[in-house]
Amino acid sequence: MATNRTFTMLKPDAVEKGHIGAILEKINASGFRIVALKLTQMTKADAETFYAVHNERPFFGELVEYMTRGPVVAAVLEKENAVEDFRTLIGATNPADAADGTIRKLYAASIGENAVHGSDSDENAAIEGAFHFSGREMF
Ligand code: UDP
Ligand code: MG
Repeated sequence: MATNRTFTMLKPDAVEKGHIGAILEKINASGFRIVALKLTQMTKADAETFYAVHNERPFFGELVEYMTRGPVVAAVLEKENAVEDFRTLIGATNPADAADGTIRKLYAASIGENAVHGSDSDENAAIEGAFHFSGREMF
């Protein structure tokens, strides 16, 4: 499997609770190389665009509200099989279903406020990374 990249955000709940350091440590310890990193706050328009695939879902309004209420940590991560391995590391969308030791099991409060985002495909990883970072910000 070739080395590739995924995109993550540590969501506002994780930042508010002071979990940035612990989550980044876990990401590093799991073999991901951080190639881009910043603290940033999404506007309503940003969140609506980022989560456009969910715009018909009943939770969309709450999701946009949540994702814009404070800063997030955006990052691009590199590893062999990055997208799939990172989804495994974060665990199921609902922390109640997430495996022991996963980031969502450890740090998420609910299916809505679930601490961390992980891209679901190589294509979306590239789109989401480019949404937050210019080429000059990726190393
Ligand atoms: N979400 C929610 N309620 C749901 C499903 C999802 O509030 O019933 C939120 C949650 O923050 C989730 C995000 O919407 O992470 C995107 O949903 P998706 O199904 O893509 O989950 P993910 O890919 O983040 O695991
Ligand atoms: Mg998703």
